[in-house]
Amino acid sequence: MTNKADTLRIPAGFQQPGTVLLVGGQRIDTLAAQTGTPLFAYDRNLIAERVDRLRGALPERAHLTYAVKANPMPELLAWLAPRVDGFDVASAGEIRRALDSGMAPERISFAGPGKRPEELAMALQAGITIGLESRGQLDTLAAIARETGRTPRVSLRLNPDFQVKGSGMRMGGGPQPFGVDAEQAPAMLDAIDAAGMTLAGLHIFAGSQNLRADVIAEAQQRSLDLALGLLRESGHVPEFINLGGGFGIPYFPGEQALDLASVGERLADMDHQLEAASPGTRLVIELGRYIVGEAGVYIARVLDRKTSRGHTYLITDGGMHHHLAASGNLGQVLRKNYPVAVGTRLQDEPVETVTVSGPLCTPLDVLADRVMLPRAEVDDLIVVFQSGAYGLTASPTAFLGHGPAAEILV
Ligand SMILES: *Cc1c(COP(=O)(O)O)cnc(C)c1O
Repeated sequence: MTNKADTLRIPAGFQQPGTVLLVGGQRIDTLAAQTGTPLFAYDRNLIAERVDRLRGALPERAHLTYAVKANPMPELLAWLAPRVDGFDVASAGEIRRALDSGMAPERISFAGPGKRPEELAMALQAGITIGLESRGQLDTLAAIARETGRTPRVSLRLNPDFQVKGSGMRMGGGPQPFGVDAEQAPAMLDAIDAAGMTLAGLHIFAGSQNLRADVIAEAQQRSLDLALGLLRESGHVPEFINLGGGFGIPYFPGEQALDLASVGERLADMDHQLEAASPGTRLVIELGRYIVGEAGVYIARVLDRKTSRGHTYLITDGGMHHHLAASGNLGQVLRKNYPVAVGTRLQDEPVETVTVSGPLCTPLDVLADRVMLPRAEVDDLIVVFQSGAYGLTASPTAFLGHGPAAEILV
């Protein structure tokens, strides 16, 4: 027998009585009638609860910032802007959205391995903190600054000399397009001084989607050690040391939620070390997925149910063109199912094993493969949970020309 617990893993924020799933207190069939399908629905109260939990767990002095690339929906950014201490952006488009959200420019940090001269000029003009990731970026920015007479506020992103085990995506250690190798950092700091730029901080982001508190804490401690060593040698006292984040959320059967309290305890210890070594410097933790990932669902309508050689397919109007990650094509090695439910039949018993496929003419377009679900009919709504981060904007929306998904903040 298929394990029922596996197939009905409805995340805590969405466990509720009733036949039709509620998001932010509203029935998803009502939401779908307003926006059309498919749609992403984000529950603002779940995001607020998550921010509150983070505030409770992280050291009081530390800043919590939001990585806009996880979900750049304008309404969501505007709502989040007063609740976090800053936004991390990685393109001109994200800079515009961050500024439109009402976030103060000096609280916006601009990362990214490739920054066009126009983007650097725009960030400089707006007074954003510019994360330098190479000598080339520094030189380009210095030339723009000379022309405009403005003093850039910069941070230096370091590619650490260690790697993080157990990260979904590794972005530090070994050769990397991101940041400056730790060995080259002293020369970069000298060059930043020579160019007359203001060093606001150091930045280390070692990886994403990590569920192990001990591994995260170890990476953060090593990042802090690296940063403090550099500051000691160079004599700089910047405003912040950004230790990244990479806090993961559980997607697949058997995955355990991150032990946030434990991460917080270790960070408190690091905060004391920092206070002793450099009292004017604060820690920054930047998170995307952990803040919004569990607060969002993707909702698609069943267009057809069909049987092929004994196997049942539910064909929906949603798929990989809106939710590449759930289809298993955004970096997964072995395809696994995100938690899914028939959101219009929550009280029905799971009775059949089905594959939920999207409308695209490619075998890659699968939302859930061989899952036990209640019997769904045409017009029922399939819900994919854990869809608040890296959904719509991380997907090939133009592929096959089906058009965009709606998004709603509830
Ligand atoms: C993508 C990214 C983040 C956010 O990562 P999450 O795993 O979503 O928290 C933070 N910082 C940088 C530099 C990034 O590139």
